[in-house]
Amino acid sequence: MKSFLFICILCCSSFWVAAQRNCVTTEYWQSQLNNDAALRMRYIQLESSAKTRSSISKKEQGSDVADVPLITIPVVIHVLYNNEEQNISNAQIQSQLNILNKDFRKLNDDTAQIPAFFAPLAADCRVQFELAKSDPEGRATTGIIRKKTDRLYWQQDDKMKFSVSGGNDAWDSRYYLNIWVCNLTKSLLGYSTFPGASPEKDGVVIRTDVFGTTGNSSSAYNKGRTTTHEVGHWLNLKHLWGDTDCGSDDVEDTPPQKTYSSGCSSFPKTSPNGCNQQPGGDMFMNFMDFSDDACLHMFTIGQRQRIHDLFATSAPRETLLYSTALHEPWNSSASPEPQINTGAESHLTVFPNPASTFLTLRFNNEKPLTPKTYSIYDITGRLVLAGKNTGGTVSINALSEGVYFIKLQHGEQVLMAKFIKE
Ligand SMILES: [Zn+2]
Repeated sequence: MKSFLFICILCCSSFWVAAQRNCVTTEYWQSQLNNDAALRMRYIQLESSAKTRSSISKKEQGSDVADVPLITIPVVIHVLYNNEEQNISNAQIQSQLNILNKDFRKLNDDTAQIPAFFAPLAADCRVQFELAKSDPEGRATTGIIRKKTDRLYWQQDDKMKFSVSGGNDAWDSRYYLNIWVCNLTKSLLGYSTFPGASPEKDGVVIRTDVFGTTGNSSSAYNKGRTTTHEVGHWLNLKHLWGDTDCGSDDVEDTPPQKTYSSGCSSFPKTSPNGCNQQPGGDMFMNFMDFSDDACLHMFTIGQRQRIHDLFATSAPRETLLYSTALHEPWNSSASPEPQINTGAESHLTVFPNPASTFLTLRFNNEKPLTPKTYSIYDITGRLVLAGKNTGGTVSINALSEGVYFIKLQHGEQVLMAKFIKE
């Protein structure tokens, strides 16, 4: 029997990897907090004021949906593709926008599947999403940027958020929700920042094949709910179990939960050893749990409250209320094509970036550059270092911290790359 079980586990292991939703947002965010004392302070402050606001508004709460303003969030989608299959269609992008607008407005087709026990808590969150009409310079845009990239896979290291590392820079995150759609490595579905993140990283990252409802290969995640979940984090919602054994999501009307749910549970999902002894059991159909897309159906009134707290005066998402991204463009010049660092053109890549002691130089991301002379300039254009590139590596020990440009002559071409010395 034991050996049968073992074989079964072996056979099913790839299935289990594919079947269990994961979300690395908490892990990602914890590492951001660990590495940035200022961010840590901002976030602690945000959480404590969110709690204060929450208790004030609870006293005033009539909880009538008509009292809750409808907020429209301008969105920019950065599609990063290495092959044409990853360069998803406008229809696929629009299908994701439709899902967000249904899920956050309680207009989703599957609200009837919310168990009657939890139905009174299900909320229209009064936020909706629209592709930007104007870019940060006021030029006309579709709200979709397509950029070819050399990278085959992406990790939760934010490289997709920076042109210098083959991604695409965020649009001003005070006024846009930035969503990067890219070929995240197979173990990742997506991740998000929480409010308070540094502006150039603020936004959501989603794996191409779980974005939208068309053209997907992953059947458990083909209903666009990964993006609903990650945008939930971007709007300050936590996992129901607080990412610890019976932890808290700081929302009053979601029952306590021992840990995440998997697949599709049946109601009521109770656990004799759990922390939730209420008859309804776990709220496994909440968008902030880990059930399959087909079994996620609702946010709660308490979650809506937490979302709307973010738009209060001086709260971190307030600036979105003043965004002009959905206004008609006022600048008639054409938007520049995104700077594409791949394809036939030669280019220079440097890494690590930021770097502290040395830079490795690559030509078209492949070959190490053969010995050539190089010149390094500071941000004012002053030559600060020059020498011979031997073996594709350049020592930058002599530089102080800052932004620099490295220039190489390669045959007829002049190659330039920007880097940060830390
Ligand atoms: Zn999550």
